[in-house]
Amino acid sequence: MYLARFDDPAGVRFGVPTFNYRHAPAGLATRRQLAAKGLTPGRQPIAGQILWRRGKRVAYLYREDRAVPKREATDAQLAALLKAWAALSTCPTCGREYPYYLPRRFGECADCHETAATAPTEGSR
Ligand SMILES: [Zn+2]
Repeated sequence: MYLARFDDPAGVRFGVPTFNYRHAPAGLATRRQLAAKGLTPGRQPIAGQILWRRGKRVAYLYREDRAVPKREATDAQLAALLKAWAALSTCPTCGREYPYYLPRRFGECADCHETAATAPTEGSR
């Protein structure tokens, strides 16, 4: 069903520019090749394809100049973020954790803030 040669840079035969394995022109890279450089295709369309193993394997090619830096958070980064979120939503006074960030101007939850505002302070008794 496929011919032995897959070179079709103009995309006449396959619809998209098609190259033999390891014959992709400079500037085009597979998703894996981009990932090795810390890049991801982003939202660009497929720029071409590589066929090998007699056309049984295909890898899509993307333009490297349109690729964007990969921003995959590592486990450590995620853990740090979760910790930061937890700190922002935990009241330092009562230790309760809320499903939202506590207002910074209070520095504690509304309950504690209200209690502190209405209750007489130690010295005023
Ligand atoms: Zn509190």
